[in-house]
Amino acid sequence: MSVALFTLGGTIAMAGHSTDNGGVVARLTGAELTAAIPALADLGVPLDVRDAHAVPSANLTFAQVLEVVDAASRAVEAGVVGAVVTQGTDTLEETAFLVDLVWRHQEPLVVTGAMRNPTLAGADGPANLLAAARVAASPDARGLGALVVFNDEIHAARWARKTHSTSTAAFASPNAGPIGHVIEGRPRILARPDRREPFLQEFVTGPDASARLGMTRVALHTATLDDDGALLDGLEATHHGLVVAGLGVGHVSSDLAPVLGALSQRIPVVLTSRSGGGSVLRHTYGAIGSETDLQRRGLVNGGLLDPYKARVLLRLLVANGAGRDEVAAAFGRLG
Ligand code: ASP
Repeated sequence: MSVALFTLGGTIAMAGHSTDNGGVVARLTGAELTAAIPALADLGVPLDVRDAHAVPSANLTFAQVLEVVDAASRAVEAGVVGAVVTQGTDTLEETAFLVDLVWRHQEPLVVTGAMRNPTLAGADGPANLLAAARVAASPDARGLGALVVFNDEIHAARWARKTHSTSTAAFASPNAGPIGHVIEGRPRILARPDRREPFLQEFVTGPDASARLGMTRVALHTATLDDDGALLDGLEATHHGLVVAGLGVGHVSSDLAPVLGALSQRIPVVLTSRSGGGSVLRHTYGAIGSETDLQRRGLVNGGLLDPYKARVLLRLLVANGAGRDEVAAAFGRLG
């Protein structure tokens, strides 16, 4: 029995300095990260450390994340009680959600990182990694899928957001709140969210999964004041899906509405909110460009999913061959 640790770079590992500009770069291996945390000795189970990639999280690909899911799945099948992944925080909300969509085990997979790199006073990486390992080893975390553990808070990957660019309290779940806390080293789960059956698991292990994902392009367009939609010209020729981060409850300008309607006849277009919290609505407003108008034009309602998570889900669905009805059904279930 052990906890598997996979390292993917990010600030938590950035103790090296670039020879070009002196800025920090990923350097620490998993062995070096864990050596800096003597309290891991009290975890009760050993850590089985595997270095996967050492990159800024902007450089991670879906395929790399799914490789780690595969490796973590094999580790679980071989008997580990949980898994921890360390990575950069910038795309952590997307990768954790991607993992959650395909993770089929009762054992938790916990994602964490750091906001202060190891060269700074008060670096938070060791505390976050220790808390993440404690959650991964906790029987109470079984059945919760992918989790984000940060700043002693436990978040369901399905709702976690990076909401601050520098604070060590960078993660929050605006729609749900944390589902637990790590208190005096002990994980306390306060709420157990309804976890829908993970799906597309056969996709992850499918022989051509990486190739299909690599070929699938899903765009994200943020609606803005006085947006004429010109940026979206010809998008159907280059992309297989589009997520719209709409204004407020899911609105766009009356110029953009027909552009989106025409696109949704060619590729799936999902409507979300750019607001940072809350849902898009379904049947309240009636103007051109409102949520009812956009749905009538064929857009799929993204519900409570934020634009970044919606893009992850849509890319998986389209890569898996889903048509508009399957896309709508999946967002109806998970949005
Ligand atoms: N830019 C870094 C990254 O995402 C930030 C971090 O690790 O928190 O890799």
